[in-house]
Amino acid sequence: MKVVEGIMISPGIAIGPVFLHSPDVLSVPSYDISAGQIPYEIERFQTARARAVQDIEVLLQRGKPEVGEMERKLLNSHLLMLNDPHFHEEVTQALRERKKNIEYVLREVEESLAKKLESSEDEYLRERSLDIRDIANRLLSHLLYRKRGSVLDIDKECILVAHNLLPSDVISMNREKIVGIATDFGGKTSHVAILARAFEIPAVLGLSEITAVVRNDEMIILDGNRGLVIVDPDETTLNEYITSRKAWQQHELQLLNLNELRAETRDGKLLQLESNIEVPDEIHSVLAHGADGIGLFRSEFLYIVPRKFPDEEEQLEAYNRVLEGMKPRSVTIRTLDLGGDKIIPGVIPGGESNPILGWRAVRFCLSKPEVFKSQLKALLRASIHGNLKIMFPMISGVEELDIILEILEESKEELRKNGQPFDESVPVGIMIEVPSAAFTSDILAKKVSFFSIGTNDLIQYMIAVDRENERIAYLYEPFHPGVLRLIKMVVDNAHNNGIPVGMCGEMAGDPFAAVILLGLGLDEYSMSAIGIPMIKRIIRSVTIAEAEELVGTIMEMKSSREIDEYVRAWMEERFDFIPQY
Ligand code: PEP
Ligand code: MG
Repeated sequence: MKVVEGIMISPGIAIGPVFLHSPDVLSVPSYDISAGQIPYEIERFQTARARAVQDIEVLLQRGKPEVGEMERKLLNSHLLMLNDPHFHEEVTQALRERKKNIEYVLREVEESLAKKLESSEDEYLRERSLDIRDIANRLLSHLLYRKRGSVLDIDKECILVAHNLLPSDVISMNREKIVGIATDFGGKTSHVAILARAFEIPAVLGLSEITAVVRNDEMIILDGNRGLVIVDPDETTLNEYITSRKAWQQHELQLLNLNELRAETRDGKLLQLESNIEVPDEIHSVLAHGADGIGLFRSEFLYIVPRKFPDEEEQLEAYNRVLEGMKPRSVTIRTLDLGGDKIIPGVIPGGESNPILGWRAVRFCLSKPEVFKSQLKALLRASIHGNLKIMFPMISGVEELDIILEILEESKEELRKNGQPFDESVPVGIMIEVPSAAFTSDILAKKVSFFSIGTNDLIQYMIAVDRENERIAYLYEPFHPGVLRLIKMVVDNAHNNGIPVGMCGEMAGDPFAAVILLGLGLDEYSMSAIGIPMIKRIIRSVTIAEAEELVGTIMEMKSSREIDEYVRAWMEERFDFIPQY
């Protein structure tokens, strides 16, 4: 038995066989063939092609609800390419000319097609290069009889183990079958972590060497409550975990009983508990967990899986689905926050030396006015289909905000001219996640209808700690006195200017932060849907006076450790339902 420690990311306990997500086929054999062998190689190509088509058809037919709309579009575009006569012609022609084995020729064709597309001026064509590579890898895995370790192909219950995952892997994988996620890389507020929580999959990231320790199909235990993976468990440990898995499931069911109750403190202050979502499909889970609304819809995920900018109509359709599904509750949709770790090769290139400080979010949008306006117009048009709020991410100062508000006005004017209706008074707010915005929040508050504090980035930028890097994860401290002071400043500036302030960073869903945030005066909490029942239970168990007293005490303390220990003891003394981690 071996216990590997990582970072606890998404709660729950999973027991199951490993599915090791291995990289795509990298090297291919190379040998000469005679003219007489060409028909045989063409036949091998046709067989591999037929198998690849069959794979995709199975994925498309595998229970409609499991294949989301974005994934369906992606798979259909791959089918089209596999059936494209030009692609066939290109491969068979190269085979005749090169007189090399089909794997070698296919890789050459892939390289030349992908390079041509990658150098195109047209964004749509550039992004197609990834599809060429994906299709070639699928064909090569059939030609070489290698099991392709793709998350798309998982069809039996397993724990997914990988060195690292892309947000698009998590979005497009078969979520019904993956009962746990374990990776070498990644931190608590990485986007893979956020998605694991959103999809309610127990997860432990930052395990450093898990891919080297486990083998495919080996049975492991993943303890998302304590951040552990247990490889080759002995019988006693396995039995203990089977019992605690059952207890955990019951505990979750009990919490769901709170759904109909409001998030109201014992002395009557009503809080808004909302949910963060990444894809429209999540609204079922949001409603099941009793959310008062959606406090953050990360719209960029609509762009990540299709790897292209959806047009205005496609965006409108997705926004309408969420707004109508959540009615009459409010839905805050954040404009594109691409860039940083949310790279779409071919659409938003990586390669910046400091991507987290680079061309991301509104900075990217301001340099692509046509992309930005198409999203703003889709949002405005959607505003008549429900209770919409528009939110801008990564605002760093007032000039930037003024330009954005001007572009919003221009978008409204264009809609008016076209006679397209929208809600003239749709509330507009900003995220406070860059320290310069927090320090000037008194100025910014006069220009918008609400603030939402994005602690994932705010902490990253304040403490200068990369939120994705497990090596320095110990420095990522939500209870750092500097962080708490800044949150207090933002809340006070919002209230002094008569606007509400929420929080949509992961700190809002941390049970140990819940009373502190209440005492600091936060109005709205937005988090992964699974976190809502616990935060609601905590809020319903305290008074504002108690929360303010706790804040009064901890604001005098000097270090995050001192605050952390004090708050844990304070909570454990009062509540018997607090998680033991
Ligand atoms: C944040 O930074 O706190 C936030 C909610 O945005 P994201 O995690 O998408 O960067
Ligand atoms: Mg952010």
